[in-house]
Amino acid sequence: MAFDAHKIREDFPILSYRAEGGPLVYFDNAASAQKPAAVIDCEADFYRSKYSNIHRSAHELSRKATVAFEAARKTVGEFFGAPEGYSTVFTRGSTESLNIVAFCYGGKFLKAGDEIILSQMEHHANIVPWQEVARRTGAAIRVADILPDGSLDMDSLRSLVSARTKIISICHASNVLGTVNDIAEISKIARSSGALFNVDCAQSAPHCLDDLRAADCDFISVSAHKCFGPGGVGALIGRTGILNSMDIWMGGGDMIESVSWGGTTYRTAPEKFEAGTPNIAGAAAFARALEYLKSLDLEGAKLHEAALLKRLSEGIGQIRGLRILGVAERKTPIVSFACEGVHPNDISTMLDASGIAVRSGHHCAEPLMDRLGVKGSCRASLAFYNTIEEVDFFIEKLKKAIHFLRF
Ligand code: PMP
Repeated sequence: MAFDAHKIREDFPILSYRAEGGPLVYFDNAASAQKPAAVIDCEADFYRSKYSNIHRSAHELSRKATVAFEAARKTVGEFFGAPEGYSTVFTRGSTESLNIVAFCYGGKFLKAGDEIILSQMEHHANIVPWQEVARRTGAAIRVADILPDGSLDMDSLRSLVSARTKIISICHASNVLGTVNDIAEISKIARSSGALFNVDCAQSAPHCLDDLRAADCDFISVSAHKCFGPGGVGALIGRTGILNSMDIWMGGGDMIESVSWGGTTYRTAPEKFEAGTPNIAGAAAFARALEYLKSLDLEGAKLHEAALLKRLSEGIGQIRGLRILGVAERKTPIVSFACEGVHPNDISTMLDASGIAVRSGHHCAEPLMDRLGVKGSCRASLAFYNTIEEVDFFIEKLKKAIHFLRF
């Protein structure tokens, strides 16, 4: 049976929301995806029936919460294909995960003369921590370029790799261009130079799971909220041996083995990086979101998203004056576009008046905007619960908005 987006929409209560401008057309999924009732109920039920702090008490609720938290860890690790020898650390999301790698690995092991390779399509969360680590350690950042279609220039990447390269840290999918990078190939390049490979999977996590199994990554970062799960929780999945060799992230409860005035010893990963009370119900709801995804026809969802992306790209491509940023062959369902002489915020404001939610601005990727020669863009980003009818409605309203704003 074909994938039925209309039926799937019934799982997501907010999709029947009526915006001031009309029925909600939610095309801001790359910023944050909506949540199915299963996830909302899981989190509410957690607080109703099992909530307590974890790991610290002998009482029944604490046991229940601990079991659920650890089960969630297992679900998350398995979903993202973490093999034997990897640990799943719960974090606040991709930003925190990327910061842990930069500061706790880079801050400890990098030194002057070492190089960190990033790419032109990185989100600020995979730029700023490295800049700070480079400033503190004397290591240098090298930036792999992109090709005119928005794909990663693999020759540029290869040309930067040398014995000085200590880590390659690159997004799996760009939050602006939609480009899906060949992480299996990049992991080989990293291996050939002895560098570590850190992958920002914030955008790819719900879309390209098979790639993770094919690539040899040292770390991956994910955010639950982009995978139809709750906000404020995510994961860093990394090689346990490397995680154990790294500096601590935060000191506090739960991450220590023993504390005395004479000194403190730390637990191993994952707990080493989980000081303090985590988002316990959030972790359970994150796992529930992944279980929900597993219950779907994911192949059908992928084909549906591809059909939506094709229709959206063709529709936008036919509007005079619009420039699509990123037309790589392999993309997540994102179309960013700029219009000469028109501020992207004006476009999104006009779309909002019709109930359409898109994002506009620099999308936390200012270096990419500079590289593309634009100040900002509008971004329509889709999920499997979006429909062809919504795409057609969007194109109709976008045409009108551009016509109004340009002439
Ligand atoms: N990397 C990329 C590619 C992203 O798109 C985002 C979120 N926009 C992040 C990192 C940061 O994710 P979060 O805000 O969930 O920490």
